[in-house]
Amino acid sequence: MRLLSIKNKGGVLSKIFSICNQKGGVGKTTTSVNLAAALSLNNKKVLLIDMDPQGNATMGSGVNKYDLEYSLADLLLEDNQNVKEIICSANEGFDLLPANQALTLAEVKLLEFKNRELVLKEIIKRNNIEYDFVIIDCPPSLNILTVNALAVSDAVIIPTQCEYYALEGLTALLETIDKIKMSVNQNLKIGGILRTMYDPRNNLAQDVSSELESHFGKEVLNTVIPRNVSLAEAPSHGSSIISYDRGSKGSMSYLALAGEIVKISK
Ligand code: ATP
Ligand code: MG
Repeated sequence: MRLLSIKNKGGVLSKIFSICNQKGGVGKTTTSVNLAAALSLNNKKVLLIDMDPQGNATMGSGVNKYDLEYSLADLLLEDNQNVKEIICSANEGFDLLPANQALTLAEVKLLEFKNRELVLKEIIKRNNIEYDFVIIDCPPSLNILTVNALAVSDAVIIPTQCEYYALEGLTALLETIDKIKMSVNQNLKIGGILRTMYDPRNNLAQDVSSELESHFGKEVLNTVIPRNVSLAEAPSHGSSIISYDRGSKGSMSYLALAGEIVKISK
């Protein structure tokens, strides 16, 4: 997959991936934080953007969302905000554009902007953002924040649980992606459907997984994220799975995902 990335003033190409699914609790934030950490471990310079007012990616990266002087909301709403003042370093080797509840109000205000779908894109273009990868953790809805994320992305990764309603939700999301391609971002690609919280002992999970493969073919990523208790525990320590339990199956799977993403980005 060739990605036509944004070239910033310094000429550096950032590969921008949105982690997106309007369905809640499918592993978007877990994937965003751990993919960012795994890419950093591979010596990639990574920026994680928390695009969700829940601020879970912020907390999961070890940054307290209640202590933020500035957050993504300020950056989206104020023209003269310096992005470098807002970006903070997570303990995990990557940089973070943090978010909290203030983003809910920003979402409402964005709707009044003329260029409302392109606010994040213009910020990234305007500022000298030099990263190998930018990962955007989207909220569980197809709102203006998600549209901003998709409008600036090279590709979208879709975490999906292998459950009965998975296919139905995916169809709605793929239709939205098509609309984005026809309007604000014709270069947007499907980076891949990522099977998350997979339990191989569960027959339904096996069936849905096979159905995803036959229906979406190559768009299904090879890496499968298993259900793993360490992955659920790590955020309460403000850690990625790699620093929390490096040898766990969850950690291995996100390292494998990082390898796969690096490969498909070339
Ligand atoms: P939301 O839609 O609310 O933003 P989300 O899609 O970001 O949710 P997560 O917050 O990543 O989903 O995950 C939902 C819950 O499942 C969390 O409690 C998380 O710790 C847990 N979880 C995610 N992935 C796994 C996994 N592979 N194994 C075990 N638990 C997991
Ligand atoms: Mg989330």
